[in-house]
Parts: sequence; C-alpha cells; structure tokens
Amino acid sequence: MKWSIAILSLLLCLVHAEGVETMNHLTVKEQKLAAIAAYAANGDLPELKKALAAGLDAGLTVNGIKEILVQAYAYCGFPRSLNALGTFMALEHERGNKDPEGKLPGPLPAGKSIDFGAANQTKLCGAPVKGALFEFAPAIDEYLKAHLFGDIFARDNVDWRTRELATIAMLGAMTGVKPQLEAHISIGKRNGLSDAEIGEILAIAQAPAAVPPKTSAFPVGRENTAYAKYFTGKSYLAPLTGDKRLNTPVFNVTFEPGCRNNWHKHTGGQMLIAVGGVGYYQERGQKARRLVPGDVVEIPPDAEHWHGAAPNSWFSHLAVECNPQTNQNTWLEPVSDADYLAATRPGVLSPKVLVVYFSWSGNTRQVAGWIRETVQGDLAELKVVTPYPANYRSVVAQARREINDGVKPPLSTRIEDMAKYDTIFVGTPNWCSTMAPPVATFLTGYDFSGKTLIPFVTHGGGGEAACASDMKKLAPKATFRKALVIRGNDVAKSKAEVIEWAAKIVHANP
Ligand code: MN
Repeated sequence: MKWSIAILSLLLCLVHAEGVETMNHLTVKEQKLAAIAAYAANGDLPELKKALAAGLDAGLTVNGIKEILVQAYAYCGFPRSLNALGTFMALEHERGNKDPEGKLPGPLPAGKSIDFGAANQTKLCGAPVKGALFEFAPAIDEYLKAHLFGDIFARDNVDWRTRELATIAMLGAMTGVKPQLEAHISIGKRNGLSDAEIGEILAIAQAPAAVPPKTSAFPVGRENTAYAKYFTGKSYLAPLTGDKRLNTPVFNVTFEPGCRNNWHKHTGGQMLIAVGGVGYYQERGQKARRLVPGDVVEIPPDAEHWHGAAPNSWFSHLAVECNPQTNQNTWLEPVSDADYLAATRPGVLSPKVLVVYFSWSGNTRQVAGWIRETVQGDLAELKVVTPYPANYRSVVAQARREINDGVKPPLSTRIEDMAKYDTIFVGTPNWCSTMAPPVATFLTGYDFSGKTLIPFVTHGGGGEAACASDMKKLAPKATFRKALVIRGNDVAKSKAEVIEWAAKIVHANP
C-alpha cells in the first residue's frame, strides 16, 4: 500500500518538524482498538482474535468493541463485520463472559434519522456534504446520512474521535479506498486526532501486530529477541552505526508500554538519550528518573540500574556504549512489578489527596504508607488524646465498650485545611466488625460534601464487615469508592497489590 506509506511518511515528517514532544500519542487502549479495527477490516480472524484479547486486557469494554465491529460494516461490508463479531463472541465465551460490559448507547435523538444524520455529517465534515455523485445516485446520499451518520454515529456510547480512529484504521488496512481514507483523516483531525496520532493509526493499520508505533525520528528496528530473557515485555533494537573504527556503537532501543530491562551494570558505563515517548531510569537505591525526549542519562561504570517505558507509553532511547573495547554487561534479576510500579507512579498526581488512618498494631499504618507513596498525597495518622492500651485484651475490651456505647474518643490530630482535599483515603482496622472509634470521631468532625472517600480496611479474619458501610452512615454527603480489604497477616506481602489498587482507584471515575 504505497500511497498510505507515502501519507504516513509525510505525516511523520510534519510531526518531526513540529517537534515530537509537543504532539499527543495514542493511548494503549486506542492502539489496541486500531489493531482490532484493522484486522476486522482485512478479515484476518486469527490475528483479530489475538488483538481482541489484547484490547480487553488493556481495558477496552465489550460494548465499546462491539460498537466498533458493528460500525465496521459501513466501511468493509456486512460479511467482514459479521465474521469479526462472530470471532469476538467466541472469544468472550472462552474468557467466561467476564470482561467489563461497558456502556450501552442511550436512546437516539428525537426525529428522523435522515435529519439528525445530516446534521451529524455536517458537523463531522465541517460543511454540508454535496456533490455530483450524490445527485447521480441519491439513494447512497440518503443511506450515508440517515444510516451511517444518523443511526450509527448517533449511538453515544462511543465518541466521534474514537469512531474516526477506528474508521481510519479500517480504511488504512484496505486497498482501493484512498479518497475515503483521505476524507476520514481530515474528519479525524476535526474531531481531536493529531497528525502524530493519525500517523500511528496508519502504521498500526498496515501491520497491526508487527510494527510498534514509531515514537521518534529514528528507526525502530526488529524485535529484540537476542536479549529478550533480560527484559520484561517486548523491546525493539535498531543499530544506528556501522563503522567499527569509530568505536562508538549507538542503538535505538524501543520499549513497549510496561517493558523494562533487568537490573544490570556496564563496566564501561553507558549513555542514554531519550528520543520518544515516556520512560524511566533508576539506579539502585535511588529515586527513578522520568525521561522524555531530549533527556540525557550518564550511567557511571558499574552502577546497577534499569531502564524502560512508562506503564502507559511507548519509549525509545538511544543507547551509547561507552568504552566499547573493554565494556562488559552483567545482567541481574528482573525489576519486580512492585518496584516498577513504585518507580513509575505519577510524579505529582494531585496535591488534593489525603491519606488518613488509625492504626493500633501498625498494619493499617503500613498500608497507608504505601498508598501515600503511590498517590503522593498528604498523610495523617489519627491519634487519640488518651492512647489505647498496648495490651491486646485490654484494647479489645475498651474498643467493644466504646463501640457499644457510641463513644467517639477525642483526637489530638486535627486536619487544618480539609477544604483543599477532594479525595481522602480513610484507613481503619476492623474492630468488632466496624471501624475503630477514632475513625468515627474523624468522620463526624468534618464536612465531606463533594469529596470522594476511599476506605481501606485491615482485619484479623473478619473481612470488611460493616467498616465501610458504617463509614457511609457517618459521612452521608461523600461519594464512596469500594474499599480495599487486607488481612493483617497478609499485609507484609501486599505491597504490589496496594500500589496497583491505589494508582487505579485515585484516577477512576466515580
Ligand atoms: Mn543500561
């Protein structure tokens, strides 16, 4: 498909001229959706099945995908659309029909399809669509307006940007549809797709499985299978230099989202130059460094370190081998998921997050610390004016008394500026099947209207019990999220789970 390669090259030139770092890139979900659309359009059902599974794993919903496979029939015909839906149905059955359903469309607008469809078409294209062809064959004009832009594009569970992304991927995967592809590239731009994103969609459309999106002006090269055992995830390697007399081997290394290499060291050191996407570099015992194009990392000889992509972005860096005559690599253990998540958590998420907790044994304090590390919020321990006894039996007896009598023990902890927080993690041990009384004191002492409260509970076997539901009674004006519940004995091994949960839930929509 020479024409689309030409368009792609042109787009990438434009992107390069404008500076890659200022351009948006597709999200992982969008990349997966583009691959699904491309395989549905070219009818490669075995590859479509893999792409569908990868899309679901990346967080696409069942109804979101169905919507695109239905829309596909307008661009590649009922046979391809039906076969793709059949493949999807079989896959869902194999996966136990457990994937998130996602939104269904709401009702269509009032009135006739032809009317709201014509309005949609005008809005999408920027002007009313007319032409000799539509006078020659008025029926096709009516079907386009009433059915494609009316009945299909008015279904509101998938936005127009996403519909155009899928359409460009479908047309990019087909031959003989250049005018339509060009038209949809321009419609896509009117609906929020950047030149860089369209370039990525076309690259995926032409080789949905094989080609990582081009994240920089340098070649991506081939999948790095030789060193795959020292990497978590897929990476790609392109040698950029050939003249051995220069003694400066330079490679472009591209990491898929989430990919990183093992801990390792170079006797002669190494230099990294970030050229595309977002990545990380971490030296043992130090804070990870976030890398964007233009960043340079000088890695000292024998320093143990790793480098790789951000969890949600491709990343490319040039790797310059220093002192190549004598340089030797020593590969060490993989970077664990917990360490990777801790290293790559968003730097400054929100100054508006508070993590507040009461802890007697230290378990809830431990979990609170990990949450705070992840969300970068403020941390406050609820301390009581009269401390609880250290003896287990005495504290249980006192807790039971306080809970039965509805006692709310006074706190010495005061949150000075509660108004500045919009999200509050609230941690408690399960005491007698409810929250510890100091947490009840906290929840009755402030106005939580408009705030989101996220409970986390540690327990000795009783689970969540009424901890979260009793919290809701005390803060009825807050929006509550589902609680994280961890057994006290399991706290020590739960760091990865806590970090992952906190990172996800703090961004989740209510
Ligand atoms: Mn290295």
